[in-house]
Amino acid sequence: MIIVMKRDAEKKDLNNVVESIEEAGFKVHLSRGTERTIVGVIGDERLLDKKHYESFPGVEEIVPILKPYKLSSKDFHPEGTTIEIGNVTVGSDEVVVIAGPCSVEGWDQLRTTAGEVKNGGAKILRGGAFKPRTSPYSFQGLGEEGLEMLDTVGEETGMPVITEVMGPAQVDLVCQYADILQIGARNMQNYNLLQAVGETGHPVMLKRGFSNTIDELLLAAEYIMSNGNYNVMLCERGIRTFDSKYTRNTLDINAVPVLKDLSHLPVIVDPSHATGKWELVLAASRAAVAAGADGLIIEVHPKPTEALSDGRQSLLPTRFNTLMQQISHIAEAIDRRVEVPALKEPAGV
Ligand code: PEP
Ligand code: MN
Repeated sequence: MIIVMKRDAEKKDLNNVVESIEEAGFKVHLSRGTERTIVGVIGDERLLDKKHYESFPGVEEIVPILKPYKLSSKDFHPEGTTIEIGNVTVGSDEVVVIAGPCSVEGWDQLRTTAGEVKNGGAKILRGGAFKPRTSPYSFQGLGEEGLEMLDTVGEETGMPVITEVMGPAQVDLVCQYADILQIGARNMQNYNLLQAVGETGHPVMLKRGFSNTIDELLLAAEYIMSNGNYNVMLCERGIRTFDSKYTRNTLDINAVPVLKDLSHLPVIVDPSHATGKWELVLAASRAAVAAGADGLIIEVHPKPTEALSDGRQSLLPTRFNTLMQQISHIAEAIDRRVEVPALKEPAGV
């Protein structure tokens, strides 16, 4: 349940409510809005006498929350969450683009890609060092060496970096190099991992599992948040449906407005994994921005045909530039923005 405090409630009124809830063995999450404070009660509500709190001074109303998730729900935190990552803010009116290769493959590949995506307007650099490959014989990533490259190239280009962490034992290591921890689709319900990243306070991008419902995604976010880490972004990356002939997954575009309605957490869309084909990434990106996504994560490679993973869905840098220009117009039409550098005039013009 949430306890909505009156606009003119005093500090001591709030303290009384909080103390009483904590004494009853529940946790409290405070959301201080511009208008009023909301006290979120975390725990098994059936054990709490709701009527008791109605008489507390400063209390406006008690609202039972029927949804299974609390901290990730908009009821607990009506204002949208913004997450600061270095000089980048996710969840504001700016649609933030994360781009880079699927896997970090080497210095040249990463430096070239990072330079290109930065010039195109990307704000955050992606690159996998620990890769969750379907086959154990496929390239598994460069491991710590890849993390070092990502960290260095992120510094060189002035971009925060995001990379996947695949297990609880890797969390400390990945935190040393990455600004954002990515939880991959295959690990969305790895509860030990969610708990471990929850204990770090590091920003996390949680990808929706390809067979998971929206409620399951929000409950996975709840695992991270209930361990004290509120810096969570949700990522729609396509789900499995009956139709997989022309696309790798089905981009659930509905998930964007649904998540924005249910939750205060920023929503990122991954059109690369959702479609699996570079030719479809542009259209899916435009749709994601139009649907209200707070950001996109896009795979880019200077030589997609030589990529060690996901080359089929990786954009050439020139195509990435086109994507950035197009989504900037769409963002503008819905009162948001994508910061794209002005296109360079061809020499001699
Ligand atoms: C990736 O981002 O390269 C990746 C493996 O994504 P997902 O977990 O969505 O498949
Ligand atoms: Mn990939």
